[in-house]
Amino acid sequence: MTSGLGAGFLFVLGLVVGSFLNVVIYRLPRGASLAWPASHCTSCNRPLSWYENVPLAGWLALGGRCRTCRARISPQYPIVEAVTGLLFLAGYYAFGVTPLLAVRLAFACAMIVLFAIDLEHQILPNEITLSGVVVGFALSFLLPPGWKSSLLGLVVGGVFPFLIAEIYFRVRGREGMGMGDFKMLAMVGAFLGWPLVWVALIISCVLGTVIGGGALLLSRRGLGTRIPFGTFIAAAALLCAYAEAPVLRLYGQAIRAYLTWVGLAS
Ligand SMILES: [Zn+2]
Repeated sequence: MTSGLGAGFLFVLGLVVGSFLNVVIYRLPRGASLAWPASHCTSCNRPLSWYENVPLAGWLALGGRCRTCRARISPQYPIVEAVTGLLFLAGYYAFGVTPLLAVRLAFACAMIVLFAIDLEHQILPNEITLSGVVVGFALSFLLPPGWKSSLLGLVVGGVFPFLIAEIYFRVRGREGMGMGDFKMLAMVGAFLGWPLVWVALIISCVLGTVIGGGALLLSRRGLGTRIPFGTFIAAAALLCAYAEAPVLRLYGQAIRAYLTWVGLAS
């Protein structure tokens, strides 16, 4: 059962969690402690007052600039907070108040962090991906997708793309995907299971080719520049985690349409 009060609570909880995710996104790739020191301006190092830490409102009230040194505060902060809030809200309606809601929200948080870190640094920290493989598989013994689906998803996500990339590397002589991508896909497989991880992989390849390729062409940096593939995996995995049924239905229709087109089905 869902209610307006419950929805409001989940949204605000998401804003607060999103505020913490910003700390993780900033500090994890820099090897800094997540707990200490308290939030400070990354430009002048002044510790933030409590009201500057209020999600969304803090950034808006300050007009996106530090109160003392007037340095621009990245719009990434309010964006991450708003997205986390909206995903918590959407999760409430998609899963209700169930144990699966908690698992999918934790998964969504991990995807948000990986999305942002890969986009900025082109790395996918093991602290999240490898821990995610273990946690996702362990939870599957109690909750969907079940341990068999999770194990198969983990292998399909982690091993199959690795083989494809290995062939690509042998043929083209350069890397299409990195080890971090395989570990992240294994994590997605452990949480979402088979066949959802497979569909997530296909969607992320399409997104990576269309958006990533387009952006590279526009920026004229040539196609040798690495595409932050983890960012696209995160977007695809979130879509699959939240809209499991429609995504699988569309995938089935696309496969049938393809088989009909090549004359293997009628
Ligand atoms: Zn400052």
